[in-house]
Amino acid sequence: MAVGILPVQSDPTLLADIRRYGKFDPTGCYQCGSCTISCDLVEGSVSFPRRSIRYALLGLRQPLVESLEPWVCHDCGDCSLVCPRQSEPRISMLTLRRFLSAQYDWTGIASRLLQSKAWYLGSLFFVALIVLLLILAYHLWYVGMPVTDFATTPFGLDHMFPIITYYTLTVILLPLLLLFSRVFRIWRLTMSGERQARPPLSIYVLEAWIYFYHSVTHSLMRKCPERGRWLGHWGLALGTVMMLTIKVFGLRWFQTDNLYPLYHPQRWLGYLATGLILYGLVDIFVGRLRAQKEIYKETSFQDLVFPILLVLTVLSGLAAHMFRYAGFALTCHFTYALHIIIATPMLLVEMSFGKWAHMVYRPLALYFLAVRERAARQAPAAEVVPHAV
Ligand code: SF4
Ligand code: SF4
Repeated sequence: MAVGILPVQSDPTLLADIRRYGKFDPTGCYQCGSCTISCDLVEGSVSFPRRSIRYALLGLRQPLVESLEPWVCHDCGDCSLVCPRQSEPRISMLTLRRFLSAQYDWTGIASRLLQSKAWYLGSLFFVALIVLLLILAYHLWYVGMPVTDFATTPFGLDHMFPIITYYTLTVILLPLLLLFSRVFRIWRLTMSGERQARPPLSIYVLEAWIYFYHSVTHSLMRKCPERGRWLGHWGLALGTVMMLTIKVFGLRWFQTDNLYPLYHPQRWLGYLATGLILYGLVDIFVGRLRAQKEIYKETSFQDLVFPILLVLTVLSGLAAHMFRYAGFALTCHFTYALHIIIATPMLLVEMSFGKWAHMVYRPLALYFLAVRERAARQAPAAEVVPHAV
């Protein structure tokens, strides 16, 4: 289908909207292009950070929302180092990704959480409190345990079955469902606008491997000058996916008094996943401590809360595991309760609406960009007018 040049109306409220999601101050930019030249990820039809920033400055809301380029940026900071106007394009791209994440979420919750620290922290504490009350209610009324026995009765974990299985599946699968429910909305916002040449289904099928390739390899990050960063990021993502998979499919482990022996593969998969996550987290925290590097400047509030929650989840889970194998039933019981109280808000709030979402959005954007590029290669020249400004 041919697309013509369509008029675009400037929206004077766009800049203020974007700034609700973080720092965005490229007004001194005089379009020298140094940032685009310095970026190792600029190739093909992708041109950033300038184009997305320009959309924002011109108030072009629709082209900005259709734009997938902010997701190609991997936050390395080279562009900010070369900018002669100290416009900090890296931070602008970071803010644009938060703004776009809010547009993708049909519930409107992400918008509230990404704009307000009070809402974000309040939601985490609220969910943690609900979980604490659920744990108390379960022991008092479901198990029928007097409060006075809480601190004295050594309990295993197996009494929780099958309730804990349903609980774990809910708190892991619900965020995943929410994240993937946004895929259609992202497609509609970015690939089906009237300024787009709509690619045929066959191109989506042919390029589908791109989504899986980038989900697994995070290969674009290898182009960033900070080479070690890819390994930490990849380890963190792989370890997290492995651990969630073990939780979903391997919970039978809790249902028996006969603990798995040391050689059992599930134990070693769990240890490997824990090691990968901890390696990725150490990499993040060491990076934050070396804040003189451009890449670690202006760490957003959520950038810190997310790894803190994750490290507390991993350490409390590890502690519960060790206490269980050491035979400290009561300590294990309390530690496991703490583990659930920390992990649940992380999954329901952070994974559903926060930084984790980029694990789905980034490969999806790279996939859609590949679809656009193949469609552009196959289309007659007159049809390729992605954003007529
Ligand atoms: S932060 Fe790095 S990847 Fe992102 S636009 Fe700048 S140079 Fe490119
Ligand atoms: S390097 Fe700075 S001044 Fe030059 S185009 Fe990029 S953001 Fe603008």
